[in-house]
Amino acid sequence: MGYDTSYPGCQNDTDILKKCIAENRILLTRDYEFYKRYSRSIFLDSPYFKLQIKQIAQMFPPEMKLFFSRCPICNGLLEEVCSDRMGEEFESVKSRFRMVKYCPYCNKYYWKGSHYEKILLEIDSILKG
Ligand SMILES: [Zn+2]
Repeated sequence: MGYDTSYPGCQNDTDILKKCIAENRILLTRDYEFYKRYSRSIFLDSPYFKLQIKQIAQMFPPEMKLFFSRCPICNGLLEEVCSDRMGEEFESVKSRFRMVKYCPYCNKYYWKGSHYEKILLEIDSILKG
């Protein structure tokens, strides 16, 4: 959905807060005590990710033009590149798409395959549900 996000993994709470401050990030958490420790935190009301996405989207309405602009693996900004540069293993993709998205950090390509419409439908379902 284009949100600039970072998942802390196994860091302790203090390190997560340091990262939030250093990177000027908003903290999303289900831990109420943790939520109270940082002024730029949001307490996620629901344990269910779809309701969490809906809550965040209501607070920060997503911009359609930013959808699919970030790598789902590393959060890096994707670049629009010509599919000609893709390897031989992507011949079917290259024949169907002249332009694809590329993550320079993961060295991965993304294109508007069948999953693309499914993702949009899922997001629409979450936001309207
Ligand atoms: Zn990436």
